Amino acid sequence: MPNTPLVATLDRHGQFRVHAATCADAADPYRQHTDPFPVQARTRRDIAAELSHDLIEEGSLTIDEALDYVDFLPCCNPLLLDEPETAARR
Ligand SMILES: [Zn+2]
Repeated sequence: MPNTPLVATLDRHGQFRVHAATCADAADPYRQHTDPFPVQARTRRDIAAELSHDLIEEGSLTIDEALDYVDFLPCCNPLLLDEPETAARR
């Protein structure tokens, strides 16, 4: 298993699903379309940017749009860090 706390899978609809690396669902072949792969980033925006990095770099997707393609499963919530800029805007 990867030595990062978070992993992601990609489902057949092109939706990323972010799990805790220890989550059994992440490795369940009946529920996941791809093998889980490690995610280095720890905030929601950074994770979306990391997962869709190719599309963002070529300019066809913004980070906000990329966030729509990422599901953060409950198992990963305790491992996510706060979003500094979001917190500041509240
Ligand atoms: Zn999970």
